[in-house]
Amino acid sequence: MNNFVKKFVNLLLDSVYPNDIKCIFCDKDIAKGSFICNECKNQDFINDNNTRCKICDKPIIENNIICDHCKTSKYHFSKLTSPFIYKGRVKNAILKFKSDGAKYLALPFAKFIVDRLNNEKLDFEIIIPVPSHPKSIKERGYNPARLLADEISKLTNKPVCDVLKKVTITKNQKYLNYKERQENLSNSIVLNDKSIIKNKNILIVDDIITTGATIETCAKLLKGASNIYGCSVARTNI
Ligand SMILES: [Zn+2]
Ligand SMILES: [Zn+2]
Repeated sequence: MNNFVKKFVNLLLDSVYPNDIKCIFCDKDIAKGSFICNECKNQDFINDNNTRCKICDKPIIENNIICDHCKTSKYHFSKLTSPFIYKGRVKNAILKFKSDGAKYLALPFAKFIVDRLNNEKLDFEIIIPVPSHPKSIKERGYNPARLLADEISKLTNKPVCDVLKKVTITKNQKYLNYKERQENLSNSIVLNDKSIIKNKNILIVDDIITTGATIETCAKLLKGASNIYGCSVARTNI
């Protein structure tokens, strides 16, 4: 490639992957190869508190190992993990990713998730994204969870299996509690191939984890699987 072509290609790549040169959370210029700036690395939206719930990854202040919600709940998954807390700049970036077509964020988000999966030594064989209804995918142009799953797959060499299908559109979950969310979701997601998941360790991928009800609904459907883990870019701290 001559210099002119090289420059043009780099310019093109930078516009496709603006995350290479700007912090994905605050837009500050950063060195190529990193995704967030030093200031953002030290913010309270990084979910690396030492006292996180061993099951759902929620930060807990007391010396508890498991949060109150997990103490009284029975799940079909073994563990959830999320590198960020859904607040402030993280919240803005995820909303951009989910609703403003910022698909380029899938790669940096997936890298943070994969780092976390490696640190926690979560061993999985197949990746299943939380499904979106075809109507929502058509409106948005993509399923954010599927984009994340695809990037995690490229980084880990594990296949994505689209075995869960969203068959009905559920009402907005924003103001529903854990139990209401589960009721709202039940029968809205179906498993269309049992054979692939048999005796497999599975990673379920979503963009945000709030109460964990969506991952639990998916995990419950994956009967016959071995260990089931859930991950997301961020989780709420409530
Ligand atoms: Zn930043
Ligand atoms: Zn918990």
